[in-house]
Amino acid sequence: MHPARARLIHDRPQTQGPVLYWMHREMRAADNWALLHARELADQRRQPLAVAFCLAREYPLAALPHFAFLLHGLRHTAQELEALGVPFILLRGEPGQAVAQYARDARIGLLVTDADPAKPKRAWLADLLSRLQCPAMEVDSRNVAPARRVSDKAEYMARTIRPKIQRLLPEFLDPFPALQRQSLPWPGPAPATDWDVLLATFGPPPAHFPPGEAAARQRLDAFLRQGLPRYADERNTPVSPASSGLSPYLHFGQLSAQRAALAAMAANAAPQAREAFLEQLIVRRELAENFCLHTPHYDTVEAFPAWARQTLARHRADARPFLASEAQLDAAATPDPLWNAAQRQLLATGHMHGWLRMYWAKQILFWSPDAETALARVLRLNDTLSLDGRDVNGYAGAAWSIGGVHDRPWPERPVFGTVRSMTFSGAARKFDVRAFVSRWSGPEPA
Ligand SMILES: Cc1cc2nc3c(=O)[nH]c(=O)nc-3n(C[C@H](O)[C@H](O)[C@H](O)COP(=O)(O)OP(=O)(O)OC[C@H]3O[C@@H](n4cnc5c(N)ncnc54)[C@H](O)[C@@H]3O)c2cc1C
Repeated sequence: MHPARARLIHDRPQTQGPVLYWMHREMRAADNWALLHARELADQRRQPLAVAFCLAREYPLAALPHFAFLLHGLRHTAQELEALGVPFILLRGEPGQAVAQYARDARIGLLVTDADPAKPKRAWLADLLSRLQCPAMEVDSRNVAPARRVSDKAEYMARTIRPKIQRLLPEFLDPFPALQRQSLPWPGPAPATDWDVLLATFGPPPAHFPPGEAAARQRLDAFLRQGLPRYADERNTPVSPASSGLSPYLHFGQLSAQRAALAAMAANAAPQAREAFLEQLIVRRELAENFCLHTPHYDTVEAFPAWARQTLARHRADARPFLASEAQLDAAATPDPLWNAAQRQLLATGHMHGWLRMYWAKQILFWSPDAETALARVLRLNDTLSLDGRDVNGYAGAAWSIGGVHDRPWPERPVFGTVRSMTFSGAARKFDVRAFVSRWSGPEPA
């Protein structure tokens, strides 16, 4: 692994003892730099490695299908690891406390974990480090170009981060080695998990997205054959099957974005198709990571640029054509058939097409009393209903839609001010709205 992916986050005296990888973002056995690095360090110390995952009692805005997707996938990952002689330990409770307690009980000499700028994860990590006695390192396996290496500040927009990422790709877009079998026995406690009992408490996994690393690779392969060739021209067309549907797998770490990038580069597709996909998969995704890493209040209007806050404040009192209630939004019962169809797609599948997410969020701004309310509504609906929600991409996408983050001022309009607006008539010029609405039809309000 490139050493710049890892950093020491807890400087404690070196002690002998096994290595523990606390997995909480990259839930996969394959193509996982944190796991590979933990294994490398264990080998250097002639110590065994185990992987621990801690099932927290709750995660803000996560719903049962999200836990079901995560845990069904994790069961396969645990089997893969155990087949390679790496014990998988499922802990429960408050992650900071539970992982620290396990590290004490198993006399861990070094802890390795995933880098994650999400606020709940930062809180878990801070809690863990306040209790942990051994050194700890974190590894960025999420981004092709490690986020801390790309930039030490919140980047203004895609145009400013793109050259910084591209400069690093020759160094970091390298192939993954396979995880080798471990022969050293694990000396610590290794409580067994009754997966059937555990999974039964969370209900079935979502029907539209079979969970797990193997399912993620199957979806990637299908996308490379069917979606990628059309991606450059049709990715913004909600009635086209051009987009990948990989975001739930990327969000739960069941697929490495670097693996998807390497596979797309080797695929038989036109260079424009590959470039268009890598722009979203690497540049836009890693811009979202940069936003959350360097913006402390990434989920509030404080994260909006000054020009956007000012224009939204100036237009706060503008008359709205319709003021939506939470219940109308929840039930896809607004006067806009396209918005309702998008919301029904989300309710039925746990996923909404990427172009529609922008339109959907901007209409929520148009129908809300102010930007604060609109942002809270977008995040609540996106995070509770989207399988890929609670992700840096969601926070950046909501802040782009409502608050002009990573965007520029546009001609002034009611309610939006100079934040870019999107309209039904604009959508109708872009794609066959009627076909999409009839695909996701339901009772329209009288
Ligand atoms: C209001 C709003 C909310 C969003 N919420 C989420 C979310 O909760 N989780 C999430 O992963 N994405 C979110 N996005 C970003 C984007 O819409 C989704 O990543 C994309 O639609 C996922 O579908 P896909 O995998 O088929 O995308 P594809 O078009 O196939 O793209 C491949 C991958 O590139 C990345 N990507 C694509 N578009 C973007 C983008 N605009 N910004 C950052 N990364 C991108 C994603 O990882 C995606 O899986 C949101 C966007 C908006 C405007």
